[in-house]
Amino acid sequence: MKLKELKEELNELPVEDKLNKLASFFPGKVIFTTSLGIEDQVITHKIFTNNLDIKVATLDTGRLFPQTYDVLSNTISRYKKKITVYFPEYESVEKMVSEKGPFSFFESKENRMECCRLRKVVPLNRALSGMDCWISGIRAGQSDDRKQLDWIEYDEHKKLFKFYPLFDWSLEDVENFIKENNVPYNSLHDKGYVSIGCEPCTRAVKPGQDFRSGRWWWENDGGKECGLHIK
Ligand code: SF4
Repeated sequence: MKLKELKEELNELPVEDKLNKLASFFPGKVIFTTSLGIEDQVITHKIFTNNLDIKVATLDTGRLFPQTYDVLSNTISRYKKKITVYFPEYESVEKMVSEKGPFSFFESKENRMECCRLRKVVPLNRALSGMDCWISGIRAGQSDDRKQLDWIEYDEHKKLFKFYPLFDWSLEDVENFIKENNVPYNSLHDKGYVSIGCEPCTRAVKPGQDFRSGRWWWENDGGKECGLHIK
């Protein structure tokens, strides 16, 4: 199926119907990777409560906040559904930490990208292997880089479709949905943490500050991505 056809099929449909159609177009080959952040919890809720044939997966980098593990645990308990957890390849992480120490990512951008690659990108690629469609919780309003994306795209590099169900949602829409549906969410969101990643590389931001400014704040060269979505 071509991107143009897919867009026409899905355009104007509610989020649940878009997800359901994708699941029927690509049976067993649609994956949603959740960071367990607030946007992703909305999508998890929609997938699980509608019993959609979409694999839900998350990456455990080994450096997550305890509060993030609480979300994982509470989500499994609430929906009684499986979330597949992908870990990094232990040998490469052991080598990196043995040679460079546990905080090498503070020392250079190169080290930081190496850590993100080993702990996130490599496991993500394993999760995406063999899939035709990848769902993610990106919103256009999160950053200027993300505004450049489209709500559905074809990733030539990974050879799959990428769909962002909440692309045109505001943060307020997301928060309202979470409250109205009593969806489990990360308590750090109530303490000024907006985009929540690994514990050493994430901090709270002040109201009105850029969505990604609490991530890798010691780097000042703009790009606040870890290589999962935007190169
Ligand atoms: S966010 Fe930090 S700890 Fe997590 S993978 Fe990237 S560099 Fe490593």
